[in-house]
Amino acid sequence: RAKQAGRNRCHFFRRDMNEQAVRRLEMEAALREALDRQEAGCPEDEAPFELYYQPQLRLKPNCLHRVEALIRWTHPRWGAVSPVEFVPLAEECGLIDRLDSWVLQTSVAQLGRWRAAGVPVPGLAVNVSAVRFARGDLPDQVRAALATNGIPANDLTLEITERLMMTEEIGVHDALDALHALGVTLSIDDFGTGYSSLSYLKRFPVGELKIDRSFVKELDIDAANRPLVRAIIQIGEALGLTVVAEGVEREAQHRMLEAEGCAIGQGYLFARPMPSAALVSWLAGAGKHWVECPADACFSI
Ligand code: C2E
Ligand code: MG
Ligand code: MG
Ligand code: MG
Repeated sequence: RAKQAGRNRCHFFRRDMNEQAVRRLEMEAALREALDRQEAGCPEDEAPFELYYQPQLRLKPNCLHRVEALIRWTHPRWGAVSPVEFVPLAEECGLIDRLDSWVLQTSVAQLGRWRAAGVPVPGLAVNVSAVRFARGDLPDQVRAALATNGIPANDLTLEITERLMMTEEIGVHDALDALHALGVTLSIDDFGTGYSSLSYLKRFPVGELKIDRSFVKELDIDAANRPLVRAIIQIGEALGLTVVAEGVEREAQHRMLEAEGCAIGQGYLFARPMPSAALVSWLAGAGKHWVECPADACFSI
C-alpha cells in the first residue's frame, strides 16, 4: 500500500509540475503579446502595463528624495500579475530587454512631463535587470532617453542587484563605467541578500545601497536585525554611499532607522507605489509636508 501511496504522490507531483509548466508557457505567450500591444501604442485604458511610482524620502530633514518606478501588469483574465512572478520569467525567456526598455523610456518621459507641469519630483529610480547589462546598448539607451526628455543624468538612478556585480564580463564593467561617466547613480537593490563578496563596492562606481526589506521587516520585533542594519549603514558611511531602507511599514522601524542614521526610507508607512496621477495628488495633499522642506536641503523647481 505504501508503494501505491508513493505512486499516487508521484502522480500528483507530476501533474502539478505539468500545470506549472503549462502556466509558464501560457504566461510567456501572454507576456509576449502584451509587450507587442504595448509597443504598438494601444489606447491607454487598454494598456497591459502601467508604471507605479513609490516615493523615497529623506528622513532628516524630511523631504522627497525621488520616486522609484515599479511595473504593473494586468492580464485580461488573470488580473494583476506580480512582477515577482513575471520579471524573472521575462529574464528567462528573453523578453526583459523589451520590458526594461519600455520602463526606462516611459518613466523618464513621465519625469519630463511632471517637470513641464511643475510637479516637484527631484529624481527617478528605475530597476534594471542584470540580464540587460550584458547587452551593451544600455548606456546609449539611457543617454538617449535623458536627452529626449531634457533630464539631467544626475536625476536618474538605476537599481541593480548584487548578482550583476559578481560577473566577470567585461561588457558589464564597461556599461557600469559608462553609466557612471554619464552621471547616473548606480544603486545596489536588495543589498545583503546576494551572498556576494563586498569587494565589488570599491571596484565599481556604486553610489547607493538599498537595505533589503527582509532586514527592515522585523527590525522592531527581532533584535538580531538591528546590528545587521547598523552594519550596512556603516558600510555605506565608510564608503561614502547613500543608504536607502526599503519596506518601512511601521513608525517603530522609522524611528530606529533614523536613530541609526539611515538617510532615506521607502515603504508603505510613507506612501505606497501609485499611478502617476495619484502621485501628483499625493504630492499636493497627504505628502505635501515632504515637499515643503528647507530649500537648501532639497530640490526646488
Ligand atoms: P524592488 O525593486 O526591491 O522593489 C521593492 C518592492 O517592495 C516593490 O514590490 C514594492 O511595491 C514593495 N514595497 C515597497 N514598500 C513596501 C512595504 O512597506 N512593505 C512591503 N511588504 N512591500 C513594499 P513590487 O512592485 O511587487 O516589485 C517587486 C520586484 O520586482 C522589485 O523589487 C524589482 O526587483 C522587480 N521589478 C519591479 N518593477 C521592475 C521593472 O520595471 N524592471 C525590473 N527589471 N524589475 C522590476
Ligand atoms: Mg528596486
Ligand atoms: Mg529593493
Ligand atoms: Mg527588495
